[in-house]
Amino acid sequence: MHMIASIGARHRHTHAAGRHIAVLALAIALAMPGAANAQTKGTVDPKPLPPLAKPDDPKTPAKELFGRRPLAAPLQARSIGFYAKGCLAGATALPINGQTWQVMRLSRNRNWGHPSLVQFLERLAEKGTKAGWRGLLVGDMSQARGGPMLTGHASHQVGLDADIWLTPMPERELTRVEREEMSATMAVAADRKDVDPNVWTPAHTAIIRIAAQEPQVERIFVNPAIKKALCREAGSNRTWLNKVRAYWGHDYHFHVRMRCPADSPDCKPQDPVPAGEGCGKDLDHWFKDSILYPKPAPPPATPPKPRPPLLMSDLPPACRQVLLAP
Ligand SMILES: [Zn+2]
Repeated sequence: MHMIASIGARHRHTHAAGRHIAVLALAIALAMPGAANAQTKGTVDPKPLPPLAKPDDPKTPAKELFGRRPLAAPLQARSIGFYAKGCLAGATALPINGQTWQVMRLSRNRNWGHPSLVQFLERLAEKGTKAGWRGLLVGDMSQARGGPMLTGHASHQVGLDADIWLTPMPERELTRVEREEMSATMAVAADRKDVDPNVWTPAHTAIIRIAAQEPQVERIFVNPAIKKALCREAGSNRTWLNKVRAYWGHDYHFHVRMRCPADSPDCKPQDPVPAGEGCGKDLDHWFKDSILYPKPAPPPATPPKPRPPLLMSDLPPACRQVLLAP
């Protein structure tokens, strides 16, 4: 469920007629349970990717190239490009176990980030325990060199995005199999209009608030029902709510996006978050029946063309050095 940044990009490329419908259809498809990325299981014995026949062909999708680079580019740390169209030099890996966090889905090798993201997660994990959140289960961050991914996200390309499960860390160390096969907790109620009162706790609110209060955090994506609960439970200190954006999906995890770091001049910021808390009336449209329970669309007269995958020529030129570095 991480097409957030890409939807704007796609939007621009779609012809005016029906473009809102296309965006809505895409967003709805993303909101389907089957697309929930945190729910997709992994395996402790992943099959290595076969070598590419023509890696130098300019038509080779960039995801095929970045998906075959399991280690960081040994360069100075730099986020290059946009969240949904970029790459990452000098990544560091979040250690798979800390006192207050554990990394999930190790087979995906997506626990890489700009050092500022890794440090933020370690800090958040520690601070969270003081607010009653036992520890973080960390889902996807970025690939070792960032870039587009073979499965799942459209963003998470520059080492500044991280998914955090809405399941608190168990007190014990999870096994490798559990990290591949365990499911995150659905925090939204069955009618989609609020959080599930049997799941949601004050510590859920606290961990998202602490994340949002970090100055380096640019925005956080949560399901609209979760945003509604946060608005209700925020109390008198409410400025942090501005960064917490309601979005499709995100009912098993929340997605933290960091600002472009000072060391990354080629990092392209996202448009600033609109002013205001985004509570109350601003959320109403999410809870209309037509949005909560969309009718299946009739099959289109001509099947929609699949979106062409990003090529190296679509990414900032510096991403070629990142890809090719030893
Ligand atoms: Zn995400």
